[in-house]
Amino acid sequence: MPAPNRKLRILVSAGPTREPLDPVRYLSNRSSGRMGYAIAGAAQQRGHAVSLVSGPVALPPPDGVIRIPVVTALEMLAALRAALPAHEVLIMAAAVADWRPEAVSPVKTKKQAIIGDGMTLALVRNPDILATLHPLKGNRLFVGFAAETGDPVGEGWRKLHAKGLDLLLANDVSRPDAGFEAPTNRVSLLAADGTREDWPLMQKTDLAVRLLERIETRFK
Ligand code: C5P
Repeated sequence: MPAPNRKLRILVSAGPTREPLDPVRYLSNRSSGRMGYAIAGAAQQRGHAVSLVSGPVALPPPDGVIRIPVVTALEMLAALRAALPAHEVLIMAAAVADWRPEAVSPVKTKKQAIIGDGMTLALVRNPDILATLHPLKGNRLFVGFAAETGDPVGEGWRKLHAKGLDLLLANDVSRPDAGFEAPTNRVSLLAADGTREDWPLMQKTDLAVRLLERIETRFK
């Protein structure tokens, strides 16, 4: 009989972040949260303890999962930093906005207040959450995603090394059946030891189970 899986404490991030410009406008991206929610739900069903740090999405939290809602990248970083010490695995499925407006207006910006037809928005870089948390990694397992429109595997290897990850799932988001809003995804799983698996197109829920199987093997 195979040994039962060890119960792991798994921290998952999901969804987009939303970067406000004023009380009614924001910058964000097309992430639906489906991939991260599928991972959180599957992990909980496999007997793990799951915390889900989630940007604004239209999905209900999976049963039994503790959801920590956040809005901006800076809030997501703070929530993950606070939660990380109590977890053994971090899976960053969130689509973190790379930039945020330099200034957030406390009142709605009126178009009449802008002279001419154009408007220039000043943006500042958001921190890279995985890279920022790397000094706290210890022997935790860090898993990231790379959603690309060009060369997902090449970019995936670069990001795996740059962010000091153990595993990275690379996918081509220019395909209609993979990535952002689709219920399916097609990924390559890249590992820090140089191994690569190309998985077929599958439901995000099945992909989540396969990822968790790979993670569980590393804790046997
Ligand atoms: O945006 P990028 O392609 O660099 O994202 C790759 C991985 O890094 C994803 O797992 C994402 O959640 C994570 N990320 C992050 N902090 C950012 C941007 C992305 O941790 N500011």
